[in-house]
Amino acid sequence: MYKLILSLVLAVSAAPVFAAETPSYDQLLGQLTSVQGEIPLAPVADKAAFAAETEGRYWVTVKAADKRARTKLLEAGFDIVEINGDKVSGIAGPELMGLLSSKSYGLVEKTALAALVPDTKDFPSQDAIYHNYQETYDLLKQLASANSDIASLFSIGKTVEGRDIWCLRLNSSVKGEGPSTKPGAFFMGNLHAREHLTTEVSVLLAAWLLEHRNDADVKKYLSTLDIYIAPMANPDGSEYDIKTGSYQYYRKNMAKNADKSRGVDLNRNFDSWWCEAGASTYPGSDTYCGPRAFSEPESQHLKRFFEGRRNLKTHITYHSYASEILYPWGGNEADVPNDKDKRAFIKIATEMGKLTNYAPTKSSDMYVATGDSADWVYAATGALAFTFELEGRGFYPGAAIVKGAVERNIKAAVYLLSVTDDPYKVI
Ligand SMILES: [Zn+2]
Repeated sequence: MYKLILSLVLAVSAAPVFAAETPSYDQLLGQLTSVQGEIPLAPVADKAAFAAETEGRYWVTVKAADKRARTKLLEAGFDIVEINGDKVSGIAGPELMGLLSSKSYGLVEKTALAALVPDTKDFPSQDAIYHNYQETYDLLKQLASANSDIASLFSIGKTVEGRDIWCLRLNSSVKGEGPSTKPGAFFMGNLHAREHLTTEVSVLLAAWLLEHRNDADVKKYLSTLDIYIAPMANPDGSEYDIKTGSYQYYRKNMAKNADKSRGVDLNRNFDSWWCEAGASTYPGSDTYCGPRAFSEPESQHLKRFFEGRRNLKTHITYHSYASEILYPWGGNEADVPNDKDKRAFIKIATEMGKLTNYAPTKSSDMYVATGDSADWVYAATGALAFTFELEGRGFYPGAAIVKGAVERNIKAAVYLLSVTDDPYKVI
């Protein structure tokens, strides 16, 4: 039925149809069922490389009675991945295991990471639906060329390793990086490397919007708004996470630190109470804030991107996983001082929560974490910036989760577009 409707829509509209090689949104999601079991097993994984990377790293559960205890753990360099009552779980390297095993912390259990990680090559065969860097770029290029009247692709800037941070722009009157006075929305995925579901949500949102470009509401947003979608904000880290033959549980960018360790946590590197609470100064840790605010090319490019587009009114940065929609502040326990903004944040987060089944939450109610991108975006530009923690149980939730997560998040994104012209109309 869907395909029938789509062909009717395309037949009666004057809009350009997809180029033959451009997969439709439906086809992209359709791969979900066809791909499983049909891809040959991955070649033998590079076990030596993986063992070297994961040596001494553990999945641990530690006692943390409240928000303060959680914030303290982040400061010690522990990346909190799950919160369950008075316990938290996450990944700890050798430098942290001693501390967490000491009397001042209550270590509940630990499992060697190597025992948990499935073997892969690129994405593992069962996760082949996920787009790696090249596939994401190819799809964005196809979408831009098949819709060249309203879509264009440009690079926000280059990463530590020289990859482009690609951004698809949907604007009926301006291409590339030209200025626009239309109210803007920016959707960003994959600031954290291992959170691959966030790339899928972003890139499939782009595919869906363009495929539905002649639906009345979408058509209105495409003609009146300035929409940006960057599915991979940390492509170096994302590629590193999948390239050695096994998932690496890798979070940061690929900076080479002074102490020879690797990576800065890009979501601790923004200049919002930089490196105060909930961030670590220890370069090897997952929550390392970097040598200074905006020390990293990726965060610098994003800073310039936001500062150069004062028409941006709304923003979502996608992370995984907690099924939450977070709004500022994250780096401070206070509410945002502007009451109008606060009410708009709560109302919009609540509405998007209904569409996704995610819990609308003030970010710092989970734990206090400074240097966060959404806090900085809101403080520096006034755009209403939300952090989505997508659904799932783990960083590698498999192919089956993609369809539902994408569909729910498209609804929330479309809702955000519906208020982007004037976010305060909701209060
Ligand atoms: Zn994240």
